[in-house]
Amino acid sequence: MKIGILGGGQLARMLALAGYPLGLDFVVLEPAEDACAAPLAGHVRAAYDDPKALEALARQVDLVTYEFESVPAEAVAQLGASLPVYPPANALATARDRNNEKNLFNELGIETASFAEVHDLAGLEEAVAQVGLPAILKTRTLGYDGKGQQVIRPGGSLEAAWKAVGEVPCVLEGFVDFDREVSIIAVRSVSGELAFYPLAENVHKDGILRLSTCLHDDSHQPLAEDYARRVLERLDYVGVLAMEFFQVGAHLLANEMAPRVHNSGHWTIEGAETSQFENHLRAILGLPLGSTAPQGHAAMVNLIGERPDEKAVLAVENAHLHLYGKAPRAGRKIGHVTLRESSAERLHTALDRLYKIL
Ligand code: AMP
Repeated sequence: MKIGILGGGQLARMLALAGYPLGLDFVVLEPAEDACAAPLAGHVRAAYDDPKALEALARQVDLVTYEFESVPAEAVAQLGASLPVYPPANALATARDRNNEKNLFNELGIETASFAEVHDLAGLEEAVAQVGLPAILKTRTLGYDGKGQQVIRPGGSLEAAWKAVGEVPCVLEGFVDFDREVSIIAVRSVSGELAFYPLAENVHKDGILRLSTCLHDDSHQPLAEDYARRVLERLDYVGVLAMEFFQVGAHLLANEMAPRVHNSGHWTIEGAETSQFENHLRAILGLPLGSTAPQGHAAMVNLIGERPDEKAVLAVENAHLHLYGKAPRAGRKIGHVTLRESSAERLHTALDRLYKIL
């Protein structure tokens, strides 16, 4: 069985690493020559919307998935005409647009921060009157890792914020004074089987995820599962879905969803019985899902911008180093380290040791 992946970055690489033990092969469609999944897969090197390249990919594979949500809808439609493409196109159309996903959440009774659509500067003024300040102006599409976002503080210039996001369709979101950020990785297979990983607590810096810690028996787990189930079932979803939340007291406000394997689930490679990557593959292939039970106490730290001293990292007991084969560049995720320990206390001690090295 050969699986096509749109995108050839670290998520595609880790999907391939999880798929080889299951006897799977992979082909990635990715314009970059130095795509980090390319050493592990066939590589169709072309733009994601190149019809000839999509045809070449379709000829080589049995099934297509993707590693990012900004895949052009036409590419999915072209591939979908001859092959199964998972997650489904409607999930992609919803998740790639912040306005669509927030409307879906609210429609399903899932709380969000207050928000308003913005099409122009006058619209931004109206949105501020509705949502209040501080608020965050976010581009509806193509934003990631804090890109395409501007915080507007009381008294701040609306015009400057509108210019800074590129004067494109946006949503204005009320600033949430959250207790924690958490996410759930959920999975639904072709047969409708569902599974949920334990919540991860996430720490971001400059809009980029730094640390994800697997939570054990968290009181918000049932609500997060309930919210994820509503989305999975509404979209007739197949594959892994990540949902990110702001936790405020007993409430979970959905921030966004990702129709793919997600950075806040990388800890599952060593920290869960079955990784999110393997379960995504099982789900899209219609295989039974693997157990999502946590193995010990796990946390994942992203390596951003610089390559760490590998020897020092590996000298930390129970540290698992993942380098993606990417050239270091400011703000770029080049790898991650997962720590897995027998108790929460030991995990915190190990994290302290790791932070001294990074
Ligand atoms: P996003 O690209 O929407 O995931 O935003 C990146 C990060 O910015 C989030 O994980 C939060 O740490 C922060 N952030 C985004 N939106 C809000 C908000 N409405 N209120 C407070 N913090 C936010």
